[in-house]
Formats: sequence, structure tokens, C-alpha cells
Amino acid sequence: MDIFKFGGASVRDANGVKNLASIIRGYKTGELLVVISAMGKITNQLEELSKGYLQGSSETHKIFEEIKAFHFEIIEQLFGDKGSQVYNDVANTFVEIEWLIEDEPDNDPDYIYDQIVSIGEIVSTKIVTAYLNLIGVKALWADARNYIQTDNTYREGKIDWAKTQQKIQNGLTPLLKDNIIVTQGFIGGTTENYTTTLGREGSDYSAAIFASCLNADAVTIWKDVPGVLNADPKWFDETEKIPQLSYHDAIELTYYGATVIHPKTIKPLQNKGIPLFVRSFIEPQGTGTAITKDNNPLPVPSFIFKINQALISIFPKDYSFIIEENLSNIFELFHRHKIKINTMLNSAISFSVSVDDHSKKIEKLITDLSTEFTVKYNKGLELVTIRYYNQSTIDRVTVDKDILLEVKSRYTCQMVMKNKA
Ligand code: ASP
Ligand code: MG
Repeated sequence: MDIFKFGGASVRDANGVKNLASIIRGYKTGELLVVISAMGKITNQLEELSKGYLQGSSETHKIFEEIKAFHFEIIEQLFGDKGSQVYNDVANTFVEIEWLIEDEPDNDPDYIYDQIVSIGEIVSTKIVTAYLNLIGVKALWADARNYIQTDNTYREGKIDWAKTQQKIQNGLTPLLKDNIIVTQGFIGGTTENYTTTLGREGSDYSAAIFASCLNADAVTIWKDVPGVLNADPKWFDETEKIPQLSYHDAIELTYYGATVIHPKTIKPLQNKGIPLFVRSFIEPQGTGTAITKDNNPLPVPSFIFKINQALISIFPKDYSFIIEENLSNIFELFHRHKIKINTMLNSAISFSVSVDDHSKKIEKLITDLSTEFTVKYNKGLELVTIRYYNQSTIDRVTVDKDILLEVKSRYTCQMVMKNKA
């Protein structure tokens, strides 16, 4: 059996849904479960809605009306006068949110966020399932919240793998025999049946969870790029597609910030040896990229940029060396302030790290660090990570840059840099 995953860009309008349906119709191999994200940028809008509601903003209802109108327009375009059932179904889903935002917020904001933001996926999958049925593809809507069991860490639900495995196997295996199953990415449910979300962009991870629990033969993530590229085409003209890469390299690249796949996706697939294909929904006949256990090095160096970096350099005030005790105090403070270190380097009397520049959090961290250490702080930087680096790639990415910090291991080179003055 196969898992297909379609992200928001693939279903951003009526034509996107039609295109998705033609890809599914073209699939003749066997059992299929399809994981779908919210349409277009709806999750961002639902985040705005949730924020507006929590802050008591007067914009809340306007945002909600826009979200509804966006979906109803797509339903109109896809179904014409045959749309009343799906229209009602979607309208009923929106009513649940209407009820929620009528009252004053009196609950944990993260809980409220999940109840609101999750409806993007509920609605997109209802529309797609109805459309598949309209064109004669036998598809069944499944509520992922009944299968993906999480704890109640709202906004970042942790998977209960044993329970999830049991629910998916018992509930979905029989249904897959006669139906294509359409379900939601990004969302799960607690034991008390409250909705949770798995973290932004988490639909890839959902696909991997379903794949692992169903022992799928493969997962295919359909994207608006031809496969995994060696650099982000948003920033670079000359990119190359990587035909095959190992799970290990895929984990490294996504960990360092390659946005093509959610970082949590790979591990469950690697554990079961399930291949992951990244293919283009724009050119579905293309071969895409295969992520497998074969350990071939990448054919070309790959590089990933993170912008908006801050470099924090830490020096013991008492001229002691940077030793284990100092380091453990430093890490403790980063952990306490929930600041993720992107790269680090230590010398005898200094310790430097590059982090995403969330100014407020960092100011608090620096205040705490400053009781024991002298701290220097440099903003507006970029971090580049090159996997399988060579000199010509280093030269290419450092044109007109001053390098402030460089860390090299056998396969990976990281540099923190800023534009030359
Ligand atoms: N719709 C969610 C988001 O935009 C999940 C996903 O797209 O993977 O974050
Ligand atoms: Mg998305």
C-alpha cells in the first residue's frame, strides 16, 4: 500500500484540487491513503483568527468571513449546482468555530489555537473527498483525530505510538481494501477526544506516521518542486535535483533548515525502511527524488541558508577556561530559555553560538548569562550549511560576505557570515 501527501500549495484553488484528483485517478497500483494539508495559506489565516480571538480584536469576524468565503468559492467552482451536500458539511464544520469564538476565551491559548487552526485540514479533506466521489473515484473521508493519538501538549502533540498503531491498524486496514482513504495531515486527538496539532508544517510527519503504522510500501510527497534540490530555488537560480539521497543525508539537510520535508518525517520511515519519494504535482510524470537506505553520498554539494541569525559569544568573566562546568551552565540557560542552537564553536576562553534572532527571548537569555559571563551579541547574520562541501561551493556562497565563524566536520561545513560593509 502507498501513502500520498499533498501540501497546501497543491490544493490552493479549484484547479489544484482537480490536478490532485487526476494524480490519484492515475494511481492504479493498489491500496492508497492520501494525507492532505489545509488549502493554500489557510493555516496562516486561521492562526490570525485564533490570535484575534484571544486578543479580543475587532478583526476576528472579518478574518473568519474571509476564510469561509475562500472555501465556498472553491466549492462553487468545483461542484457548481451539485455542491449542496459538501457545502452543508463544510458550513457545519465552520459552525463549531463560530460557537467557540462567540464566547470570551477562558481556556489555555494553545488549546484554543489547536481547536481553531485544525479546521483548515478538516475542511480541505472534506472538499477533496467529495470531489473525488463526484468524478467517480471511490474515496472515504477519515478523521485523523480518531487515529493519531497524542498527549495533550497543544500545538505540539506528542505521538502515543502504541495506541496510534493499534487504532490505525484496526480502524483503517479493513477500509483500505475497497476505498481510497483521504485524511488530514497536521492534526491528532487526545484520549479525551480533544484536537491537537503536531507543529506547523507537520503534515509530512502525519504521512510518515500513517506509513509506519500501516507498513506502507512507500510514501510520496507531492510538491511544487521537481524533487529535493541542492539549494532553495527561492534564493538561487542554478539548482540541481538530487535523484537519490540516504535517510541520513535527508535528516541532516532538513535538520539544518532545508524546508522541502519536515525534519520529523524521516526517522519513522528509516526505522521501517520505507522509501520516501518527493515528486512534482506540476509535472507528475517526473521521477523526483527517492530517499532510501542506500548510502550514496550526494552527487553535488547541497547548501541551506538560515537568515536572521544572531551570534552570541560568551566569555568567562574570571578568565577561567571554557570547561565542562561553564558549558553545562551555559547549556542549561539555553535550554531554560528554549533557544535552539544552530551551530557552535568553543575555544579556550570563549564559546560562540548562532541562533535564530528572536530578540525578546535572546535579551532575557543574555541578562541571565551576564551574571557569570561577558556576552557579545551580533545581529543580522546568515548561517549557511553545506553538506558535502567543496571549495568552489564555499566560494559561491561567500561572495561579498565576511565570515565570522566557521565549523567544519568531514561532510558538513557551516559558516556564520554577514554582508561586507
Ligand atoms: N497546514 C499546516 C501548516 O500549514 C500543516 C502543513 O501544511 O503541513 O502548517
Ligand atoms: Mg502548509
